[in-house]
Amino acid sequence: MSPFPIILSAPSGGGKTTIAKALLARRPDLGYSVSSTTRAPRPTEVPGRDYYFLTRAEFLAAREQGAFAESAEVHGNLYGTRRSEVERVLAGGQHVVMDIDVQGAVQFTRAFPQTVTIFILPPSAEVLLDRLRARKTESPAQLAARLQSALQELQQVSEYEYVIVNDDLDRAVASVESIVDAEEVSRERVKNLRQQVGLLIERLEQEIVNTTPES
Ligand code: ADP
Ligand code: 5GP
Repeated sequence: MSPFPIILSAPSGGGKTTIAKALLARRPDLGYSVSSTTRAPRPTEVPGRDYYFLTRAEFLAAREQGAFAESAEVHGNLYGTRRSEVERVLAGGQHVVMDIDVQGAVQFTRAFPQTVTIFILPPSAEVLLDRLRARKTESPAQLAARLQSALQELQQVSEYEYVIVNDDLDRAVASVESIVDAEEVSRERVKNLRQQVGLLIERLEQEIVNTTPES
């Protein structure tokens, strides 16, 4: 089995960043693709760990050079996934976790068709609003823009292979882990399946010939 990308998408406040962080803390077989953005850093964010923070001109130049596997304008800022970032994590033998929006997810799965796509839903609109307000990272205008985008994002849920309701955090993280574990043994991902089964058949056929009594 080769490592594969895992996309987590959710409306803003759905919990994708929290789930991604918890997953990465728990599973050494997972790595993170650090996105690039033109958004300003939040007080707790560290450049190069949470995002590569670029000016709009830097972002557009990198996009022009084909550096991004996908990019999108979200809530008035540009976001993108560098191809090299994904390839670095995969080459290190880890699955690569990505927290990207629905427009980016569609583009990305075209470039990397082996991607697993997971949509995170809040348990209710009230819980989503409470979590967003409690996070206190957006101004009222930014919050309104995020709610507007949330409406469009929720309509795209049918594009995703898996859906997880983020009620209890531990349960949500465990569900993502179960998906990763199951995908690792999905038939399409098993390496050299034909050869493996071919060898088994060949050996069993020999045994049948050797042990069948002559009549
Ligand atoms: P997103 O990255 O999807 O915008 P976050 O991961 O920032 O969302 O989560 C939004 C807020 O909700 C954060 O303050 C986070 O701590 C909180 N949160 C996320 N998941 C849960 C959960 N299962 N239970 C309680 N609070 C949660
Ligand atoms: P935030 O500003 O809250 O960190 O992220 C805002 C939105 O941008 C979220 O929906 C998040 O998933 C999305 N996002 C983050 N990184 C990327 C990326 O590399 N590409 C795309 N298309 N969206 C991203």
